[in-house]
Amino acid sequence: MRIAILPGDGIGTEIVGEAVRVLDAVARVHGLKLETETALVGGAAVDAHGHPLPESTLSLARAADAILFGAVGDWKYDKLERALRPEQAILGLRKHLQLFANFRPALCYEQLTQASSLKPELVAGLDILIIRELTGDIYFGQPRGRRTATDGHFPGAEEAFDTMRYSRPEIERIAHVAFQAAQRRNRKVTSVDKANVLETFQLWKDVVTEVHAQYPDVELEHMYVDNAAMQLVRAPKKFDVVVTGNMFGDILSDEAAMLTGSIGMLPSASLDAKNKGLYEPSHGSAPDIAGKGVANPLATILSAAMMLRFSLDQPAAADHIESAVRAVLSAGLRTPDIWSEGQGAVRKVGTREMGDAVAAAITTTRKTTKS
Ligand code: NAD
Repeated sequence: MRIAILPGDGIGTEIVGEAVRVLDAVARVHGLKLETETALVGGAAVDAHGHPLPESTLSLARAADAILFGAVGDWKYDKLERALRPEQAILGLRKHLQLFANFRPALCYEQLTQASSLKPELVAGLDILIIRELTGDIYFGQPRGRRTATDGHFPGAEEAFDTMRYSRPEIERIAHVAFQAAQRRNRKVTSVDKANVLETFQLWKDVVTEVHAQYPDVELEHMYVDNAAMQLVRAPKKFDVVVTGNMFGDILSDEAAMLTGSIGMLPSASLDAKNKGLYEPSHGSAPDIAGKGVANPLATILSAAMMLRFSLDQPAAADHIESAVRAVLSAGLRTPDIWSEGQGAVRKVGTREMGDAVAAAITTTRKTTKS
């Protein structure tokens, strides 16, 4: 099992380091042979090679069975032309590897109900899955650019434009992914669109409705994105699987992250048609806390668990990591983002201590199982 390790920038190296240590621990216990190779990506690759996704990094990612990714980006690269900015690395990987289906489970661990910005009763037991289409929409649509406006309210003024587009096959394949995921869960799909205003999302809605005919055991509801944003904080437990386009999914999954207590808790998987995938936390490189040793590594550790489950076919090892995370939270360990006064017996810890604790919990659970 070959894993490409791409830590990236900011807190990326810190959190990926912890996930790799947890993977080593679980590999030892389960007798897995995991070959890892690390490469530069994002700003680190811009500094070293002048490009956020060098050919050597892309080749490593192509050859691997799965990719564990940290995060990319830093404000210092904002002046670079867009094609050379660190964030282009992740867009490039998704595009080149055809990683079209992004799974973002938002799970509120019972130990963290107090850490959510919503009332505990609204989030206790929350378990929703946001499926975001990753390779289409306004992020990739052409044409895009800047020009002098010839019409509109201010002809002659500078204007910028991006093009929103989706094709029928792109919508069909993500709709199948969503309905099939719902069949393994609570059999409900909410398709989020803006069909009342945007033609692209009228097509989205029509195609999702057509694909639904093949899944009579799954309930389908359509919801406009503005309403979905509201319902996510009003009654999040009413959702099961949410499927949506690239931009709406980007925004709604960050919103859902806060239901779980912190964006530092939210893992993600980006899969191709054969379940090869890139696994990364849903957050960015957090330059504001980089190098301070306080970032929450759990989203990355949980992403590594998703990697074992989806791409490496090791569900027992994945379960083991997830149980170890629960055990550590039950033991009261909290990084600052999930720590708050009045949560009972909790201890504030840094990135390293949290990673150590999860790795140790894996070994301890094993000992308990043996004895
Ligand atoms: P961010 O997700 O990096 O940070 C938002 C806030 O959440 C910050 O206050 C940060 O400290 C906090 N946070 C994030 N992860 C955390 C963790 N693991 N533990 C504790 N706190 C955490 O978003 P941003 O500040 O908008 O963007 C920073 C950079 O990251 C930008 O360059 C952006 O383009 C990039 N970015 C990259 C990705 C990616 O690599 N996939 C995704 C989003 C943003």
